[in-house]
Amino acid sequence: MRRALFCVLFLCLPAQLVAQKPPASAPPSDRVVALLKELTEAPGPPGYEEPVRKIMTERMRAFTDKISYDGLGSVIAQQGDAGPRIMLDAHMDELGGMVRRIRPDGFISMQMLGYWLEAALPDQRWVIVGSKGPVPAVTDIWDAHIAPHGDPGHPAHQDLFLDTGARSAADVAALGISPGDPVAPVSELEVLANNRYLAKAWDDRVGCAVLLEVMRRLAKSPHPNQVFFVGTVQEEGSIEMRGAATSARLINPDIGFSLEVGIPNDVPGPSPEAAQEVLGGGPGMMLYTFSELPNRKLVQHVKRVAAEEHIPLQFDFVPGFGDDAGAIKLNDGGVPVSTLLVPARSTHAHNGIIDRADFDRTVDLMVAVIQSLDAASVAKIKSFNP
Ligand SMILES: [Zn+2]
Repeated sequence: MRRALFCVLFLCLPAQLVAQKPPASAPPSDRVVALLKELTEAPGPPGYEEPVRKIMTERMRAFTDKISYDGLGSVIAQQGDAGPRIMLDAHMDELGGMVRRIRPDGFISMQMLGYWLEAALPDQRWVIVGSKGPVPAVTDIWDAHIAPHGDPGHPAHQDLFLDTGARSAADVAALGISPGDPVAPVSELEVLANNRYLAKAWDDRVGCAVLLEVMRRLAKSPHPNQVFFVGTVQEEGSIEMRGAATSARLINPDIGFSLEVGIPNDVPGPSPEAAQEVLGGGPGMMLYTFSELPNRKLVQHVKRVAAEEHIPLQFDFVPGFGDDAGAIKLNDGGVPVSTLLVPARSTHAHNGIIDRADFDRTVDLMVAVIQSLDAASVAKIKSFNP
């Protein structure tokens, strides 16, 4: 209905006005934009992945009826039941927090979950998921007219509190909020120029979307493998990548791929050595993170497939980056893993940016890699026989 109204409005406008209309005002008639909007706007800090799990499970059901869960809440969808076992992983959780202490004046302190920069936290919109439903809140920032004017190099530290409008602890209780309740960032997806998309939680909802699109494509094209598509829980802020570890134990994969965000270093500021990718430069592959060194033969295999498919591939080395592949690789006696990336600016903040071409090419690459694998190539990758 909305879409029909949109067309009528367009017919009434002069051509010049139509051309000037910013794409952000268009309804998400593009299937992928609608999927990205739904996934990124869902609240899902670590330990509260329910809304994302619901979206993932419903979408996965269109492509398989073999859906199960691990004991922590990761969702596992299986396509095929013979051949090498390939695990595709994307984590469903995002950075967020939990309600910690409720002050007598109604302000609420937070236990942050995941690695937040202090600069990303004040003056932002959040949602607290309480027993009576979602409650909007904002992190306070000292008013400019009364904030201390010190040496700008050493700003006075401001403790962080959520303001729900409550005037007392009793008000907070009446809203259904109590300690331990999940807190998630709020940020709507916007379509920017050059098919770049602005949203929160690209880390790792963009991986979840790649996973679903790969599943859609592989449902119609046969290959000699069984693929386990996994939306994992509790990746952010955990050293052990909890959902990846528990789901890998159930799947027992021959090979694992983590689908993640890449770290473009094309904004003014950071050293050129800090990271190597650029936005719009194509899919990335991590060659070094704190959580894993990828399997060298698997890296070579992915490079070869990318070259054959004429997909540009970027490489990255980020010592401050760890991901689910770090847990998958330690499953059982050890698993060859690699991490494929959609570059995203400002991953751990309310407003990150991806480029649609990078997304589409990452889907293309992942599909081509899975289609290129079979029992012989997987055995070769897994073998350490000199
Ligand atoms: Zn991530």
